[in-house]
Amino acid sequence: MDLEKTGGRICGGKRASLPAGRPFPVIQKMMASMAHLQEEKMRLQEQLLGLQEKLAARENDELSLSLQLQGQVEALKAKLLEQAQEIGRLRSELGSTDVEKHRDLLAAENERLRQEMKTCEGELRELRRQQQAPCWDCAHLQENAGLQERLSQLQREAEETRAKLGELDLEVQQKTNRLAEVELRLKDSLAEKAEEEERLSRRLRDSQETIASLKSQPQQIKYIIKTVEVDSAKMKQALCESQSRNQYLQEQVGMQRQVLKEMEQQLQNSQKTEAQLRAQIMMYEAELERAHGQMLEEMQAMEEEKNHAIEEAFSRAQVEMKAVHENLAGVRTNLLTLQPALRTLTHDYNSLKRQVRDFPLLLQETLRSARAEISQAIEEVHSTNRELLRKYRRELQLRKKCHNELVRLKGNIRVFGRVRPITKEDGEGAEAANAVTFDANDDGVLHLLHKGKLVSFELDKVFPPQASQEEVFQEVQALVTSCIDGYNVCIFAYGQTGAGKTYTMEGTAANPGINQRALQLLFSEVRGKAADWDYAISVSAAEIYNESLRDLLGKEPQEKLEIKLCPDGSGQLYVPGLTEFRVQSVEDINKVFEFGHVNRATECTNLNEHSSRSHALLIVTVRGLDRSTGLRTTGKLNLVDLAGSERVGRSGAEGSRLREAQHINKSLSALGDVIYALRSRQGHVPFRNSKLTYLLQDSLSGDSKTLMMVQVSPAEKNTSETLCSLKFAERVRSVELGPVSRKAELGSWPSQEQLEGDSSGTTAPLGRAHMSPSPGHLSGRAASIRRKLQPSA
Ligand code: ADP
Ligand code: MG
Repeated sequence: MDLEKTGGRICGGKRASLPAGRPFPVIQKMMASMAHLQEEKMRLQEQLLGLQEKLAARENDELSLSLQLQGQVEALKAKLLEQAQEIGRLRSELGSTDVEKHRDLLAAENERLRQEMKTCEGELRELRRQQQAPCWDCAHLQENAGLQERLSQLQREAEETRAKLGELDLEVQQKTNRLAEVELRLKDSLAEKAEEEERLSRRLRDSQETIASLKSQPQQIKYIIKTVEVDSAKMKQALCESQSRNQYLQEQVGMQRQVLKEMEQQLQNSQKTEAQLRAQIMMYEAELERAHGQMLEEMQAMEEEKNHAIEEAFSRAQVEMKAVHENLAGVRTNLLTLQPALRTLTHDYNSLKRQVRDFPLLLQETLRSARAEISQAIEEVHSTNRELLRKYRRELQLRKKCHNELVRLKGNIRVFGRVRPITKEDGEGAEAANAVTFDANDDGVLHLLHKGKLVSFELDKVFPPQASQEEVFQEVQALVTSCIDGYNVCIFAYGQTGAGKTYTMEGTAANPGINQRALQLLFSEVRGKAADWDYAISVSAAEIYNESLRDLLGKEPQEKLEIKLCPDGSGQLYVPGLTEFRVQSVEDINKVFEFGHVNRATECTNLNEHSSRSHALLIVTVRGLDRSTGLRTTGKLNLVDLAGSERVGRSGAEGSRLREAQHINKSLSALGDVIYALRSRQGHVPFRNSKLTYLLQDSLSGDSKTLMMVQVSPAEKNTSETLCSLKFAERVRSVELGPVSRKAELGSWPSQEQLEGDSSGTTAPLGRAHMSPSPGHLSGRAASIRRKLQPSA
């Protein structure tokens, strides 16, 4: 615009000045135009100079600018290079490669650790297998798992770091690209500018040449002026163009500056990012360092643990190995010692095998011979058996004969005395004083202090107060067992009331008497013979009161029973209706006794009183069958608790009391008479004089055995009765005496009354113990034995 304005003013001025003031219009005009051209030329020259100056200045400016730009570009390039180098350096130092290296290192380390772990696990497994003791909760495994966890965490972190570094790389790459672009654009603009400059300087040179040629050729001024005019217009245009170009370049420079500024900004940003990246890398480095350190430490610890475990396992294995070696040595020695045994065993085995092979034949052979032997032996046994049986029968007969002979020699009536202890019932003082003493050297002698005189009695056996039920029974048991052999036995308890008859026969529940003990003994004896004999034991209980017989086990105990002859003509007696219980055990006996007691008690108002006025009988029948011989035996055991022998009659009793007393006296006298008649072998034995003797006829006659247990009280107040009882005992005993007793055959058995009459002293006519002829000074006992040995035919 400025250039056009200036041009317009120049043109307008030239046209207005040429026609005015000159006489030669053309020359004038030419001169004027020449002057004008000159002026114009001058002005143009000045302008040119100015332009040249300006151009030079601009060139200078541009040069300096370009230099400045170049410097800046250079600096930027240098910076870029530096940055690239820095990045390269950083890359080489810590870049992704380093991280990768680290990762690779870590991976390699990890792999190595894994391998080690695997070998460790293998060793552990081996150790476990050796120990046969699994340890699933081992601390190493847990630690191992923890370390693996940690390792994978670190790997993850490394992965993340690598990803971040990749991102940063990408960013740096992008920025480098953008920088390269900017550089390219800068280069382009610089090249354009250089071209423009080149073009301008060419034109300037042309213009200068033109001006120089114009100066050297003044004659051609007109033409030149015209040319100049034309050239001036061209110049003006060129100037305009140059100006516009200049304008454009300035704009370009401004733009470039702007770009430069942006780039600087970008560079700053890049630097910041780089610093951040550096810091981050440092951080990662530190982290990696730390992780590495930790990992090293852990690895160290693991290594130590592993070594420790290996050492332990090694030492254990050594110990085990030692033990195994020892075992092996033991086994070897065992093997060495066993080898000969094995050889002998093999040998034995082979021979056994042979024997087994031959065994069936051998067995058959042996069986054949054994059968023959056995049948022969059986035959022999049979014949021996027959012989034995024959001998046994003969022995039985012999035994019976011997027994009979023994009984005949010993006498089948035996008399024992039993003195009860002093009891509370005896009272106190002189009356309760002990009047009975014993002979320490003779268990058959007893001394009674009666009315100041010492009277001695001799019996078969005397039991002192301290003698137990068992001791008493021991003396009786032979008699009891003989009824198993088929003998009849009578055991009487004789004595005044309260002298201990019932105690001896029945006893107490805690300390049973002869009754229960006899039955128990019979049971055990029968059991012992059960292999050859069948036995049946039955029991009856009866009472004789006022000469009437009652069944104590019957349903109607008050019924009076009769004693009758067996209708079979055997001459045997029996009591129709007398109950007989089969007993097989002690329980059965107890039941029978209880039943008898109850029956007896219901029939009287005062049992004690009643029992002392009646005879109580327990009749045990033992029936036996010898299975081998078919021999049958029947034995009877009569256990009799007699009525009190006290002399009631004398005390002036009346009515029923007197009647009872009379009956008792009668029956006891009858018993004495029967025994006397039996022992003195009288033709007639007065069994029928009392129910008692009649009932016991079978058990008193023949080869029956009788035991009279005379019970006495030791108390001073009872001495009269004691004397009576002992006299009775001695008389019964002396019946068996030989010639002397025979003499007595003509006399009669003293009645109870007579006994009572005799009680006053020892001079009684029948006190045979003291009257018996005794050669020399033999003791009473010795004399008795002598007498017994005399034949009683
Ligand atoms: P009995 O039947 O002759 O009338 P008991 O047998 O009833 O006489 O005896 C009278 C008392 O004397 C009872 O209390 C009895 O326990 C006691 N007794 C008898 N003999 C003995 C003895 N050997 N040991 C201890 N106490 C006895
Ligand atoms: Mg009694």
